[in-house]
Amino acid sequence: MACSATSLPSLSLSLILLGNITSDLCAETRWPDEHSAGVFHCHANFELDRFEQLLGQMATLQQDLTRQLRVPPASESIHLFLFEQKGTYAEYLRLHFPDVPFRRALFIKEQGPGMVFAFLNNDFETDVRHESTHALLHASLPVVPLWLDEGLAEYFEVTASERAHSNPHLSKVTWAARFGQTPDLAELERIGSLSKMGATEYRHAWAWVHFMLHGPAEAHDELVSFLTAIRSLSPPGVLSDRLQQRIPDLELRFREHFRNWK
Ligand SMILES: [Zn+2]
Repeated sequence: MACSATSLPSLSLSLILLGNITSDLCAETRWPDEHSAGVFHCHANFELDRFEQLLGQMATLQQDLTRQLRVPPASESIHLFLFEQKGTYAEYLRLHFPDVPFRRALFIKEQGPGMVFAFLNNDFETDVRHESTHALLHASLPVVPLWLDEGLAEYFEVTASERAHSNPHLSKVTWAARFGQTPDLAELERIGSLSKMGATEYRHAWAWVHFMLHGPAEAHDELVSFLTAIRSLSPPGVLSDRLQQRIPDLELRFREHFRNWK
């Protein structure tokens, strides 16, 4: 998660604000460096050259979401505002979003394009991939259930080569599965506020996403149909119910998936 250092979750907000602040933020300051990568427009107050690899990953992140979730590509631009110093980042957010509590990285969407804010720190690249995943999802879907939004962001926040087998959550989830434990999906679905999501909930959300992306084909089918229903504004139902109906021994299959995952 983006804020593991402080045990605070990253914050994804859908703010309804008057006017379109995105264009103001892009235009109001001369950003020392700017770069486009796919739908992302990066504005940084430092040189972006050394993050060439990250910017390349950003461009392919959209393709990965489209391929794995069957969500259409974002039809709008996403703006990244990247800062060298934590203090400048905090001050900038305080000025433009005084009601938003401080987090190490942020995704904010109002009526215009989504915006991601981050500053250089040891987890900078993870933060940017995490928040950009939120931004891409919200650029394609009218709503995303909170737990699923975070589970997907946790999944896609590591580099592509690490997603299936090397996510930091994998070890704990695998051991829990070996001890017969299955995270309660219905409980995750009942979480209505990010403040209720701690490290355990982020890990559990990631685990269910991993199961649906790499486990039984029926589970992946249900995820895709669920997201398709959301996109087409049809009542999507409850994902845990849909999975349980499609896979009657769901919890057992979840544990088997992780016990056998190499
Ligand atoms: Zn998040």
